[in-house]
Amino acid sequence: MAKHKTHYEDCDILIVGGGMAGTGATFESRYWGRDMKIICAEKANIDRSGAVAQGLYAINCYMGMQWDENQPEDHVRYARNDLMGMVREDLAYDMARHVDSCVHMFEEWGLPLMRNEKTGQYQREGKWQIMIHGESYKPIVAEAAKKSADKIYNRVMITHLLMDETNENRVGGATGFNMRTGDHYVFRAKAVICAAGGASHIFKPRSVGEGMGRTWYAPWSNGSAYALPIAVGAKMTQMENRIVLTRFKDGYGPVGAYFLHLKTYTQNANGDNYEKTWYDQTKEMVGEYIDHIPTPTCLRNHAFIEETKAGRGPIYMVTTEAFQDPHLETIGWENFLGMTVGQAVVWASQDIDPKYQNPELTTSEPYVMGSHATCSGAWVSGPEDVSGGIPEYFWGYNRMMTIDGLFAAGDAAGGTAHAFSSGSFTEGRLCAKAAVQYINDGKADGISVTENQCEKFKEIIYKPLDNYTIGRNEITAGTVSPSYILPIQGLQRLQKIMDEYVGGIGTNYMTNGHGLKRGLELLEILQEDLENIGAEDYHQLMRAWELRHRALVSQCVTEHTLFREETRWPGYYYRGDHMKLDDENWHCLTLSRRDPKTGKFTMEKAPLYHLIDEKIDDKQKA
Ligand SMILES: Cc1cc2nc3c(=O)[nH]c(=O)nc-3n(C[C@H](O)[C@H](O)[C@H](O)COP(=O)(O)OP(=O)(O)OC[C@H]3O[C@@H](n4cnc5c(N)ncnc54)[C@H](O)[C@@H]3O)c2cc1C
Repeated sequence: MAKHKTHYEDCDILIVGGGMAGTGATFESRYWGRDMKIICAEKANIDRSGAVAQGLYAINCYMGMQWDENQPEDHVRYARNDLMGMVREDLAYDMARHVDSCVHMFEEWGLPLMRNEKTGQYQREGKWQIMIHGESYKPIVAEAAKKSADKIYNRVMITHLLMDETNENRVGGATGFNMRTGDHYVFRAKAVICAAGGASHIFKPRSVGEGMGRTWYAPWSNGSAYALPIAVGAKMTQMENRIVLTRFKDGYGPVGAYFLHLKTYTQNANGDNYEKTWYDQTKEMVGEYIDHIPTPTCLRNHAFIEETKAGRGPIYMVTTEAFQDPHLETIGWENFLGMTVGQAVVWASQDIDPKYQNPELTTSEPYVMGSHATCSGAWVSGPEDVSGGIPEYFWGYNRMMTIDGLFAAGDAAGGTAHAFSSGSFTEGRLCAKAAVQYINDGKADGISVTENQCEKFKEIIYKPLDNYTIGRNEITAGTVSPSYILPIQGLQRLQKIMDEYVGGIGTNYMTNGHGLKRGLELLEILQEDLENIGAEDYHQLMRAWELRHRALVSQCVTEHTLFREETRWPGYYYRGDHMKLDDENWHCLTLSRRDPKTGKFTMEKAPLYHLIDEKIDDKQKA
């Protein structure tokens, strides 16, 4: 153990993850905490890390309040509709009312936003989306963070949160290692902002073998944002609300610009518009939700999945009409070049020219995240002016979890769907302001994190290296050992369990109570074996910890899926034993807490308040 040098860093605010939310949090921490010591620990390199690493073609959340295009209340109604009613309206409203100013800052910092030549307004792709030349989106926000932080630690993966030894419900920092040097890092902090992104590779992906690693959500997003708080007993919400995306086949190329801007549409193998044929069947399952406009994302998936099951697939995107217009053709290709180059490469390699051939679509494996058309994440306090007086939604500091001093933004925060890149950055800023206030109020005084606690974690962190070094002597060749399990072996086992028992692609997203209970048993056994995970080098050590985080997130997802006894989001997953949406019993949010001592989860319901059409609108009328 001595061979891994430990670096101690004492700071005021630690930001875990330097993606969209993390850069927003780092920037804003400096604004309010002029004299504070602000550190950001990032697993990759902040210049090109997170889901926006490759760039984006659109900012998907912009109100346009300056031109009276939309108001924050409209956005809450939109998100609520898309999530079949289930969002934290206080948090969604808070993000929406602040998001425009963040986008204006991006423009000031050099991000080229496209403008409508006639009106001078930002070029809309859809009601909420504005178009950008976004290849450099991430380096631009990273620069703001770099100028704001005392230090950015790249290549440092956070594996565990540290807890205050005088108050078991208060955070005291975080610890991890540098996967290039192998050095151990201890960040003792007064407040921690968790902004480590969502989770891919929980469920078995469509692309396996030679294609493994090609996913829709960033392959390096491994759910640390959830695993870190789950491990210390923070409450989580809506973890069953995994997302499935309809995307171009094999490259996961986005379809938003195609639908919204190019006005392309889908059809089945016979050339028919299939969505309407599933109307009655869907209405039977979800009632009037199918009549909502726009049709919720999950319900569009549902029609796609049913049509394919009925044997009338593949489903195609009709591009051959739009692509006859050279301008639209250019946009169609550029849309990928700015963020999913791989899709253009897949089409080239499969001889698909969308001008002459309609490309296939597919539904992805499920992902766990909190900022897209889904809202899994930590259960956090809302802002005082909106959530104050609602005890279930407000306990002090905006976006603080149920652990004192621990905040969540972006994918990490639950209940805030449709935040996207700009909304995640905004949430980071909101967290930072609250974290500074928390420290200034003296709430972090007297935290004690002893070297003893840090040393214990050090032993745990590097154990996979020891497992490998010792166990390797027992085999002469190959990768299968009686003493250790390799990260890739453990990952594939995890994905198989999640796929077969928790509603992945292998079962057409179908699960039920029996399957989920069996899944939980198998996940428990997997946890035992992961104690013996082996890592041959520092990169594999990272893989080992990524897997441990994924496994914990998977347990939480499975517990939540078992708890909610209805099919709330057909097209995301189905409870075969409760095939209908059940507003009478399940018009509520779900909460879990894992006891850090026993590892057992407890579940409860939390009320779903529709504040927009009640409290907020009334306030404005007054
Ligand atoms: C394919 C795709 C397309 C999208 N398209 C759009 C779009 O067109 N427009 C739009 O506005 N939004 C889009 N989004 C959504 C947007 O990217 C996300 O909403 C946003 O990036 C979420 O921000 P975040 O900070 O929570 O996560 P991220 O930006 O992913 O950042 C998480 C960061 O945490 C780091 N990290 C993870 N684990 C650890 C750890 N253990 N220790 C330290 N660091 C860690 C990661 O390396 C990463 O830098 C898209 C997302 C995807 C995946």
